[in-house]
Amino acid sequence: MLVVMKAHATQEEIQAVCEQIEQLGYRPHPLPGAQRTAIGITGNQGEIDRGNLEEMSGVAEIIKVSKPYKLVSRDVKEEDTVISFPGTNATIGGRNLAMIAGPCSIETREQAFAVAEQVAVAGAQFFRGGAYKPRTSPYAFQGLGEEALKIMAEIRDKFGLRIVTEAIDNEALELVDKYADVIQIGARNMQNFSLLKAAGRKRKPVLLKRGIAATLEEFLMAAEYIMSEGNYQVILCERGVRTFADHTRNTLDLSIVPAVQRLSHLPIVVDPSHGTGKRNKVIPLGRAAVAVGCDGLIVEVHNQPDKALSDGMQSLYPEQYFQLIDEVAKIAAVLGRSVPHGIEITEGAAATAK
Ligand code: PEP
Ligand code: MN
Repeated sequence: MLVVMKAHATQEEIQAVCEQIEQLGYRPHPLPGAQRTAIGITGNQGEIDRGNLEEMSGVAEIIKVSKPYKLVSRDVKEEDTVISFPGTNATIGGRNLAMIAGPCSIETREQAFAVAEQVAVAGAQFFRGGAYKPRTSPYAFQGLGEEALKIMAEIRDKFGLRIVTEAIDNEALELVDKYADVIQIGARNMQNFSLLKAAGRKRKPVLLKRGIAATLEEFLMAAEYIMSEGNYQVILCERGVRTFADHTRNTLDLSIVPAVQRLSHLPIVVDPSHGTGKRNKVIPLGRAAVAVGCDGLIVEVHNQPDKALSDGMQSLYPEQYFQLIDEVAKIAAVLGRSVPHGIEITEGAAATAK
């Protein structure tokens, strides 16, 4: 159920309704929109007792949400959610496309810095890099853990890039929350409900990857888990699903972008690296993702892909990332969107924005 406040409802009126919802034994989720604030109600088993909510000052109406997901739905918030990062111009979900790039794994300080510099100059505002890797084989490189997080924190300071990195479990989540700007939840964990709830109790944006066999509804319900705990900053990410096709690692399902946008106010970015698994397909599918209307791209880039400890086959060379940004900027313009400019690096001086 949803309490829709009048356009001119005051903060006090919104607060009073939230308190009343708590009195009734439920949890209020006020989501301010451009026109009005709607307050989602969760925590009920079955029918909600409306009490005197309808009569309260500032309340416009009470709507029953029939879909299983509520807080992710456009019923609660009509306009797109834009996630901003205080102290920077970076946004996810706005007019500017969010460009997230970096290696699959942080391997060494040198490797991470070399890639970060290149992607920052190309125009990325976010640096991705795995510290904790969900690998199919227990014998494969598992990530450098906290050491990698520290390297990425240094990268943020040096290049002004916001850090996106995966929390593979509740233990890693605490450290990722301490160092990163965006908590990534990987495809294999999309239905790890305890991890989703724990991420929902954090106050950093969460980038949620679609599970390898998840339907649209399952994907949205996973996001609902995070939001139901009070973290409303969720970014969805399409990264390919498993099909019978064997010419790619996964099948990038770009049709989910408009499907999500129809139902949800949350931003959605696309990962053409895991979505294809092959370097030669990352640029074409990256272009297509922007054309379909996604809010940004998360791409793997490596300075020496042949020596990468994970996902080298799908990692772009830095010069290919420049090409990708250049091409998607033109496509974005057709849709009235843009890709921010990269930073300029001057020898011996700190990185400055162009
Ligand atoms: C990754 O981003 O490196 C990763 C492991 O992604 P996914 O969860 O989509 O496989
Ligand atoms: Mn990877």
